[in-house]
Amino acid sequence: MTKAFSVFPYRYLPQELLMEAVDTKLECVSIGQSVEGRSIYCLRLGTGSKKILGWSQMHGNESTTTRGLFDFIERIKGDKQLLSQCSFAFILQLNPDGAFRYTRENANGVDLNRDALAVSQPETKAFMDFFEVYAPDLCLNLHDQRTLFTVGTTKKEAALSFLAPSADTARTWTKARLEAVRVISYVYQQFNRSVQSRIGRFDDSFNAQCFGDYLTQKGVPTILVEAGQWGSDYDRVITRRLVYETLHHIIVGFSATSSETDALETYLTIPENTKYGYDLGYFDTLKEQWFGMRYSEHLGDNGVVFKDQAFEKLDPVANDFFFFRGLK
Ligand SMILES: [Zn+2]
Repeated sequence: MTKAFSVFPYRYLPQELLMEAVDTKLECVSIGQSVEGRSIYCLRLGTGSKKILGWSQMHGNESTTTRGLFDFIERIKGDKQLLSQCSFAFILQLNPDGAFRYTRENANGVDLNRDALAVSQPETKAFMDFFEVYAPDLCLNLHDQRTLFTVGTTKKEAALSFLAPSADTARTWTKARLEAVRVISYVYQQFNRSVQSRIGRFDDSFNAQCFGDYLTQKGVPTILVEAGQWGSDYDRVITRRLVYETLHHIIVGFSATSSETDALETYLTIPENTKYGYDLGYFDTLKEQWFGMRYSEHLGDNGVVFKDQAFEKLDPVANDFFFFRGLK
């Protein structure tokens, strides 16, 4: 029986909880150790010629894509046809210390996604060594994004964001980048309008220290998937499901050999992310002023706690806010 969707209902996902649920019949190898000595596990599936490398939770407090990836693995593990066409290497938690502590950074306080060139951390080194040996045809860089991002000026939350990262400061449409664009545009078109209206395009400023930019620069198509939040679903059960569907569409789109001439056009129609998202808001009628508040997140005794912060004045010109929990 599949465990997909039934395990890990909450955001806090330490390694022990995750690995307890992983099917012991799957090939699982350690590709290195974290700062605190936790193994960095990689699941290997399939024997096909198309090699896909995906990793999640390089930011320890971003478990939604890990949960969606787990569901996806549960789905494909028995798919003989797919596994004869593709090979998969999935690092479910690149930053297990951060997952335990519920922090973005690793145990040294370093953001691994700013360490691609420096390779100063054991987690980064484990990844880069594995990447060189595995030589993937496609990379999937899986993250969570905060309740900050909105879709252009549509007043809708960015429940998902995609990006074909840049390979240089000029944001050139290199061959690798265009391949990521082709797959993203395919994925986007598979969703219905309700989901499409909640998909944003992530910022494509180039930073060679970011994994996606670094790997695209090396000529490997890389897709960034950011799991946001749908409305007040703070456990992110809805976006977990969307991540699962996204991964399915990515593999179908990547495997299809047909070229789409209008893929870039489709990709560019996805509105860029804006930052008009707040957890809670209100309108002060006397002052004729909007106020918004964003929670801070902490690890409590029973999982993640969302704490109130001070309300801030919102720019009255940009009246395009989205309040995840509505108005107070
Ligand atoms: Zn992240």
